[in-house]
Amino acid sequence: MKETLDIKEEIKKRLKQEPLILDGAMGTMLLRYNLPSGACPEEWNLSNPEIIKDIHQQYLRAGAEVILTNTFGANRIKLNNFQLGDSVEKINISAVKLAKEAIQQVLASEKNKRFFVAASLGPTGKLLEPYGELKKEEVYDNYQEQISILDQAKVDLLILETFFDLEEIKLALQAAKENSDLMVIASMTFTQNIKTIYGISPERAVKELEAEGADGVGANCGAGPEVLYSVLKEMKKFSNSFLLVEPNAGMPEVIAGKINYPANPETMAFYSQKFKQLGVNLIGGCCGTTPLHIKAISDKIKNKRIF
Ligand SMILES: [Zn+2]
Repeated sequence: MKETLDIKEEIKKRLKQEPLILDGAMGTMLLRYNLPSGACPEEWNLSNPEIIKDIHQQYLRAGAEVILTNTFGANRIKLNNFQLGDSVEKINISAVKLAKEAIQQVLASEKNKRFFVAASLGPTGKLLEPYGELKKEEVYDNYQEQISILDQAKVDLLILETFFDLEEIKLALQAAKENSDLMVIASMTFTQNIKTIYGISPERAVKELEAEGADGVGANCGAGPEVLYSVLKEMKKFSNSFLLVEPNAGMPEVIAGKINYPANPETMAFYSQKFKQLGVNLIGGCCGTTPLHIKAISDKIKNKRIF
């Protein structure tokens, strides 16, 4: 517990000095490695560990200081879609191990660096009552289970991401606060009209998530960096905690049967500078971003190159 609190203090201190760079998309990279459509991305922690580790290493070498474990959909409710609910422990433990091994390997050649492992936690993919069948207790228990496993596997922080239902993310946040001492960042997904698809505004998201004990709030995925800039500008007005942003590389288009994301590394780097100026503390990328995008973001933020 003391160790957990020490890491939390260390991260907070770092965030007050300068933004930490997060990694980019895991899913986009897995597709490049031919993850079959409809397959469970988190199952690859067990069946293709070397690929997961390799992706982590590419992001670390590109300049990511925080890597997110391949656990976005590794909660029991979501894994049940693949008949993998009973593998929840194995899949999460393996994900943390792979992230830590990747860091150890990179540290062998980049000795003075400090990297952090953030656990990624995404929504259940099912709707809560009254819109769907899911009960609040089920959602809480679902995240309590995953968070306890991740806590025991010693991740450095938790990032709840890509939620659009405020009730669901609040239950995940409660489960995190009541079952671990880890730092928790809560990030939601907004559409072009600067609200989640449930109609939640950035102001309401920030106020309710911070009241629930979030150490940081933010926005990820959705409608690309420009829209997210408007979301974060709004969040900044109301937030008393740290801010996170992980834009996707614009709105995906299908060109010649392939998914194409319009925002290139330079565009992402341009916006990352604006996010830094706005006071955003954790900056990374979501769908469509690759190690090249993270390299451009890192170089820009650390002032290594002027575009
Ligand atoms: Zn995304």
